[in-house]
Amino acid sequence: MSAGASLRIVSPSTGELLADLPAAGRAEVAAAVDAAREAAPAWAATPLPERVAALKRWRRAVVDDEELLRTLVRESGKPRHEAEGVELLYFCELTRFVAAAARRALAPERRGTLLFAVRRTDVHRVPVGVVGVIGPWNFPILNNAADALAPLAAGNTVVLKPSEVTPLTSLRMEELWRKAGNPPGVFRVVAGRGDAGAALVDLVDGVMFTGAVETGRRVAARCGERLVPCVTELGGKSPFVVLSGADLDRAAQSAAWSGFFHSGQACIRSERILVEERVADEFERLFLERVRALRQEVPAPDAAREHDLGAVTFPRQIEVVTRQLEDAVSKGARLLAGGRPRADLGGAFFEPTVLAGVTAEMAVFREETFGPLVPIVRVADADEALRLANDSHLGLSASVWGPPRAARRLAERIEAGSVAVNGALVHYLVVSAPLGGAKASGVGVRHGVEGIRAFTRSRAVSVPRALLAPLDRLLLSRLAFPYDSRVLGLLRRAVRLLYRRG
Ligand code: NDP
Repeated sequence: MSAGASLRIVSPSTGELLADLPAAGRAEVAAAVDAAREAAPAWAATPLPERVAALKRWRRAVVDDEELLRTLVRESGKPRHEAEGVELLYFCELTRFVAAAARRALAPERRGTLLFAVRRTDVHRVPVGVVGVIGPWNFPILNNAADALAPLAAGNTVVLKPSEVTPLTSLRMEELWRKAGNPPGVFRVVAGRGDAGAALVDLVDGVMFTGAVETGRRVAARCGERLVPCVTELGGKSPFVVLSGADLDRAAQSAAWSGFFHSGQACIRSERILVEERVADEFERLFLERVRALRQEVPAPDAAREHDLGAVTFPRQIEVVTRQLEDAVSKGARLLAGGRPRADLGGAFFEPTVLAGVTAEMAVFREETFGPLVPIVRVADADEALRLANDSHLGLSASVWGPPRAARRLAERIEAGSVAVNGALVHYLVVSAPLGGAKASGVGVRHGVEGIRAFTRSRAVSVPRALLAPLDRLLLSRLAFPYDSRVLGLLRRAVRLLYRRG
């Protein structure tokens, strides 16, 4: 499809056409960035408590809006349980954290050195200006509008470019921002394709990007050329390690959830189960019991109908699952569950699928799947589990199950941005801790005070201390022109005295 043509948003669960929108091109992106730029000075000058109050008003409007969740379920095909119990919950909790932590994260910090104790130096956090948020299709609130919260609190204005596959939730979030009485230029949404994302990267003062590794590289390269800050959260191939001594029943429940959550379309999902040989038979039995009990249905937008799996939001992921499945089986893997599309459900559905006997030579071990396929690899011991866990070009997240001390020891050696011990996925909701990727999973972090500061730059302001001003004048005049050999002698002695020891 060419830029400028319309965006046809189709429900992955039913095939129904949900909307036909004009796709934003360069001109629309430029207009949104202009509006955000115009709004930026007033927003940056708005006292922090008022900016925080605006975020809380937004949250209230979001919590009260039934249409938002319906839209989210329709366009993503995920169960209402995940729309409400994960995405909405996350947005609310992140607003709470950002509101509570922004003062501490953005407060000026006093710095000083022994040599210049005559001066008071304060480091201020200054917003970078207009931040472009570019989001993927799998979490239409969580990795899209929610990523605006921290930059907005820090005094930036934001233009969000959601995925062309799921833009309707973001457009609703923009409506709710305005409905909450907040200034329209401060948070804008442009619904367009990749070219709109690229246009945004060309114009803004910082970029928060979540998406595929290859796109992330292009975005980061362009930010590098433009010398603007960029945070990237990219793909994952997260290991789920089961050591002997683990609570196998809980591990099996957690593996089913973290492997098939949102039909496997989550960056921190468990993509590879590495289980110790000694407990592998029992773990596989318990895991398969859980997987076979999963209820896959067409999600109901309105009611919280009890089911576990919905549709595959981006039907191209079914091709990835099928290709990896065929490759693994042709190399000796065994299909233990699933393996077929669910044509009977009418939309883009694929059975939760489990492969055993997977080895490091198979594509499913190496490449991101991002769909309802979970491979099981047997390992001899914890050392082999660690070696295979780290045998990936990605390093976003991991989960380790076992006796607490042994599991923690292993967790501390895994090359990943975050690791859950005797749990999975939950670390994404601990929004006070920074979350980012190791290796090709990205650069920079969201969450934590680090996330609030991500789109600020520092400005150090150094002022003579009132009582020590004469000393400051003397010191500066002696360091300045004209150079004097007596001063050099004094400086030399000072260097020896202060820095030779220690
Ligand atoms: P993409 O990288 O294809 O797209 C991400 C966003 O970037 C979309 O809005 C896309 O627009 C836009 N885009 C595409 N081309 C460009 C460009 N040249 N310049 C700027 N923006 C561009 O990823 P997906 O949407 O397919 O999302 C799936 C991927 O995201 C998976 O690989 C997954 O691992 C990763 N992901 C990572 C997460 C994390 O936190 N680490 C969370 C969620 C997903 P459009 O869709 O309109 O083409």
